[in-house]
Amino acid sequence: MSRRIFNFGAGPALLPAPVMARVQEELRDWHGSGMSVMEMSHRGKEYQGIIQQAEQDLRDLLAIPDQYRVLFLQGGASLQFAMVPLNLLAGRTAAYVETGVWSRKASQEARRFGQVEIAASNSDGAAEVPPQEQWRLPRDCAYLHIAGNETIDGIEFDFVPELGDIPLVSDASSHLLSRPLPVERFGLIYAGAQKNVGPAGLTLVIVREDLLGRADPHTPTMLDYAVHAREHSMYNTPATFAIYVAGLVFQWLKDLGGLTAMEKINMAKAERLYGAIDDSGGFYRNSVAPRNRSRMNVPFFLHDAALDPLFLEEAQAAGLLQLKGHRLLGGMRASIYNAMPLEGVETLVAFLRDFAARHG
Ligand SMILES: *Cc1c(COP(=O)(O)O)cnc(C)c1O
Repeated sequence: MSRRIFNFGAGPALLPAPVMARVQEELRDWHGSGMSVMEMSHRGKEYQGIIQQAEQDLRDLLAIPDQYRVLFLQGGASLQFAMVPLNLLAGRTAAYVETGVWSRKASQEARRFGQVEIAASNSDGAAEVPPQEQWRLPRDCAYLHIAGNETIDGIEFDFVPELGDIPLVSDASSHLLSRPLPVERFGLIYAGAQKNVGPAGLTLVIVREDLLGRADPHTPTMLDYAVHAREHSMYNTPATFAIYVAGLVFQWLKDLGGLTAMEKINMAKAERLYGAIDDSGGFYRNSVAPRNRSRMNVPFFLHDAALDPLFLEEAQAAGLLQLKGHRLLGGMRASIYNAMPLEGVETLVAFLRDFAARHG
């Protein structure tokens, strides 16, 4: 009997087992077409059906209102760090809330394109989202950017900022589809797919229609949201296979009962894991403010970093893969995205207890 392997990597990350089985089944001959999805014209009727179904399923899952466009792009979340200011700044000032590594990278990139102000930051070392009462918005604010979930720091927003007419932009790369999201309260949401949505190579953008057509005149065609919206993500060849796999993930989520059902499972997994860390008598530590503890990415530290290599070696031997923390933070990180079953978290928790008992 083969032992179950659980992959806690932060991204590219594991995909749901039924989705992988389906991909394998359909890999060489999609629905009797005689072609792999990889071999189809993106403009052919088979593929048009695939991408349209994927968009509809995503719209159903997130209850995306009609006046929002869904774009299937490439370049990762990192390219969105540039596309957002190029398309939305229009000579005004952008505001960024910095809560960790990714939102800081986003604000740094935006500075290349215009005026940026930091509305709030937790750079004093507090591992939390600064309460909105403390934010300071610039005059003539074009948009405000947040990272809804900081994948490296393990810090997740526990509220949706209320900004009146100022468009709210969120990098939702590592928590999109982990819970329901009130899309109508955002101007734009983007996510690299390889965390919680599908394979690398695809970037999702959900943008309110009235924000299209404001791009800086020097914006390259490929970086203009309005072009991709007009061409239905077919200005050039999209990431066809990644979109297909993401579409299967959307169907898997719908079959599961949608995002409310998914959220319940994710909450249960996170509670189990943070509970084990908190109950370890200081052997393991996570110092994020409880209200902002990410349900997707759980960084933790051993009380003695000298034990880190042994921890990782034994975890690997137990079938628990990719627990090493991000190089900027050190320590450990368990990413427990949608596709991670509760059983995987239970196995990790049992390992944490066992390791602590033997080395405490
Ligand atoms: C992974 C990640 C990024 C970078 O994504 P790429 O697709 O590698 O560009 C940006 N923001 C967040 C929140 C992420 O998790």
